[in-house]
Amino acid sequence: MNGYAGKILRADLSTKKISSIPTEKYAHWGGGHGMGSAIFFDLVKDKTIDGLDPENVVTIMTSPFSGTLVPGASGRTEVQAIGVQSYPIGWYTRSNFGGRFSAMLKFAGWDGVVIEGKADRPVWLDIRNDKIAIRDAGSLWGKDTWNTQEEIWDRVMGKQEFGQWMGLGSEDNPGNTTQKPAVLAIGPAGENLSRLACLIHDASNAAGQGGFGAVWGSKNLKAISVIGTGAVKVNDPKALMTARVWQKENYAFNLDNLKKSWVGFGEFHAPPLPVLLWRGGRPKVAQRPQACVGCHSACRARFEDALGNEASCYSSAFYWDARNLEIQRKASDMLNRYGLNAVEMIYGLLYIRLLQQYRQLDSAHIPKCPLDFRTYGSEEFIERFVKMVAYGDDGLGTKNQFGKDISGGFVRAAEKWGRRETDLNNGMLQFPYWGLPIHKEPRAQVYWGYGTLLGDRDINEHDLDWLKWDVQNAKTWGRKYGIQPMLEAEEVVKVITDKMVPFDGDIHMLDFSESNIYSEHMAKLVAWHRYYTRFWKQSMLFCDVRWPDFVNPYAPGKIGSTGIAEPKYLKAVTGKDFSFLDGINLGRKIWNLDHAIWTLQGRHRDMVHFADIIYKKTSDWDVDGKPYMPGFENGKWDYHNYGKRTLDRNKFDAFKDRFYTLMEWDTETGYPPKTTLESLGLGYVADELEKSGKLGRSS
Ligand code: SF4
Repeated sequence: MNGYAGKILRADLSTKKISSIPTEKYAHWGGGHGMGSAIFFDLVKDKTIDGLDPENVVTIMTSPFSGTLVPGASGRTEVQAIGVQSYPIGWYTRSNFGGRFSAMLKFAGWDGVVIEGKADRPVWLDIRNDKIAIRDAGSLWGKDTWNTQEEIWDRVMGKQEFGQWMGLGSEDNPGNTTQKPAVLAIGPAGENLSRLACLIHDASNAAGQGGFGAVWGSKNLKAISVIGTGAVKVNDPKALMTARVWQKENYAFNLDNLKKSWVGFGEFHAPPLPVLLWRGGRPKVAQRPQACVGCHSACRARFEDALGNEASCYSSAFYWDARNLEIQRKASDMLNRYGLNAVEMIYGLLYIRLLQQYRQLDSAHIPKCPLDFRTYGSEEFIERFVKMVAYGDDGLGTKNQFGKDISGGFVRAAEKWGRRETDLNNGMLQFPYWGLPIHKEPRAQVYWGYGTLLGDRDINEHDLDWLKWDVQNAKTWGRKYGIQPMLEAEEVVKVITDKMVPFDGDIHMLDFSESNIYSEHMAKLVAWHRYYTRFWKQSMLFCDVRWPDFVNPYAPGKIGSTGIAEPKYLKAVTGKDFSFLDGINLGRKIWNLDHAIWTLQGRHRDMVHFADIIYKKTSDWDVDGKPYMPGFENGKWDYHNYGKRTLDRNKFDAFKDRFYTLMEWDTETGYPPKTTLESLGLGYVADELEKSGKLGRSS
């Protein structure tokens, strides 16, 4: 099987049994998320278990592109399990991180790792090609994620220096390498079962959402280390190189002819220009680009003073009120070292700060808060706050109920304090769906809000987000310099929706006017987005920063490569004739499998609603600037600022009817019927739903 290593590692921490699953058994799911969901479904008999139950199974999956030269797709890894972050139910969920891990796993001969059970004491999993060991992690327990990785590098490499040749000493595979192991680790937050805990690899590659750090902590799993000396067999190396050159020549940024572009394949990032949100912008120290394996973009940076290495986007937005940039960069590093999710920490800190400013922290229902707000903005303040969440104590090592409460997540803390509904509705607690923090404004970029609510987590998929920035910047400061959006609204809806097979031709999928946001057209956009990302991004692991390539300033007619590029790479690597539409259809199957798991966990259509504030109040916070989106109003297309509107609860209910009808799910319950699942080849999933009394009626 070209593109695949051929086997998936299975480690049962309870029995210490190491075995393998032939990849062939799951290859029809493509890779990554599809394979992960299918394996999870087969191995977890009771899907209603809690995320911290030893029976929870964690899958860590690569794709056929991992470790190859497919641009922006070689270095991502997909993680899945029942999570512990969302509320009221910890949904079966996913996260994804970049770096070297997926490539190294493939080089070691594995397409993924499946973790089952719970060790009786702290352990780490040591993968050196086909030599696998579950090792004692007693002395690693308590260390932060960076020290853990350094310690494991030393243990695996001995006295060997990074960059020198090292043999792995396996008789079957006597390879040598100059590399150091790729390690994925939890920090103190995971060990202490904080629901905000994440997994960290290298400096700042985080599987951030889901609370997977706590899931690992509950299993006594400190880290997975992998080093390999093999290679990925590519079906047609020449075709792969030709495709990469074609991509570069026709679609990638060109240093001699730079053009304005926001997130997308044509975007210019180097030297280096990561999306850094630190106050005060870019640090004025020497820096160089840093990239995931095989990626041409290098969208992150490493700095001479080693502060904030590899941070980008939200991990660089934490502690905006820091007294200076150096403190803010140190705060970013603290999140990575203690292993905490940046987005929830940003909105959690905002919540606690607002409670303090409105003199609510002294209320009778809230345990005494040990933070000294007179030092707000200092390094001392943020270190204590981070430690409180990571350790669930007072941040100085003493038991503390306030610290324990916030370590379990801010929405759950508010629930304990009897304030969840109140603070969701007064806007202090900016967590409008499934107890998860807001990201993009769901009343404006409705596809983002709907996708999150109909799924399991903040989608964090920027496929259409660039459009808002492109227009917003042109309409604000760009006016001064005569900068126009890349395409007029009428052109952009055509270029993008032309690529949205099988719904292509329906330009109203991108109509964000008030009269269209609850329509069948919008249901199709949400559906297409779920299908595209479930397969091409989360299973084949094309990076969210670079893909899809819808509109591209370098391409003829500014028409990006998406639709042509994805199957071109898949054919070159695997040899399979698999069209773009085949990928969308497989994405639909994966989405249905995930939805069936959520249904088994207890999801019903009546639960699928935003916090009331989304229906009652416009955004106070201007979460994300002025969201200009295309809209068809008064008989013509234009860009409009939809930032100040509310959603309508009844109309959103009607939207769900349309969405469920499109999905061929039961509109009364949201449950998937047998006919729908059987038509997708998921008859065995229907059987399990039937046994649980969760099978939907066919229309
Ligand atoms: S665009 Fe950035 S995050 Fe994505 S694969 Fe490339 S270097 Fe990694």
